[in-house]
Amino acid sequence: MGGGHPAETGEVRVNAPRRVLDPREAARLRARLLRARRAILLCDFDGTLTRLRREPDAVRLGAGMRRVLEAWRNAGAVVGLVSGRELADVEARAGISGIWYAGGHGYDLRDPRGHVISFATARDEERAERVANWLAGRLRGIRGIKVEAKRASVAVHYRQASPAAARRAEQVVREALAREPKLQLMHGKRMWELLPARRVDKWTAVLRLLEKERARNSDFVAYLGDDVTDETVFRRMRRGMTVRVGGCEKTAARYRAETIGEVKEFLRWCLREREGTEKIAHRARRVGRRARNRRAGAVR
Ligand SMILES: [Mg+2]
Repeated sequence: MGGGHPAETGEVRVNAPRRVLDPREAARLRARLLRARRAILLCDFDGTLTRLRREPDAVRLGAGMRRVLEAWRNAGAVVGLVSGRELADVEARAGISGIWYAGGHGYDLRDPRGHVISFATARDEERAERVANWLAGRLRGIRGIKVEAKRASVAVHYRQASPAAARRAEQVVREALAREPKLQLMHGKRMWELLPARRVDKWTAVLRLLEKERARNSDFVAYLGDDVTDETVFRRMRRGMTVRVGGCEKTAARYRAETIGEVKEFLRWCLREREGTEKIAHRARRVGRRARNRRAGAVR
């Protein structure tokens, strides 16, 4: 009994995910936070850190949530936003410097220093442009449908369409897929996305990020998301804390948060718990510096 956290053993879970702020979980989480060499916080953007809007363009990161993420960064944590949006788009909406961004469902990554890693090929980009044009032409007459051309993929949003219009649009999307066998369909929240049929997804982006950061077992890693595209990470991240945000359907995440407010509260709680460790580390660095200065003084 007691033993490791299930996240560390990779055992098959049969229980429903627990609430992140469940008091029965607090002691265990606190211990993990205090033990960790470093904290790595990875979050989806829409619906996880921000409320979903009828118009995806209206989504912005709230000031309170931005402050929490900046506080994580300032405390020395690795912070990353992993989104289906284009890299530049999610970065502009979040507006936080010195963190990782992954855009286009993992096709583009940018490290905190601004270095970009892209998994999209020129062929992917040509194909996406061709398909976006074709879809835009075919869907023009259908109300409430929006085609979004991305670098390596095409999104078709139907958040503002009637059920009948959405059904017609889906027919067209299926036609596009039949024409372009190198694309695969992903069904997100009130949107379809046509992506290159290769294994690039949020998980491959997360994996690359963890690799680049030389993440170790001694790090505390958390991934928060609200959508099917985040489930690839929940399923495959054996170590770390996975959190499904929003109404809980079937999920592979080990934890859940009902609302964006709960996410914010949880992130603040972690910071407070972790702060003790940071203070200790800071004091140790200061003591070390003084000792070095004394030694340097003695030599002079
Ligand atoms: Mg989302």
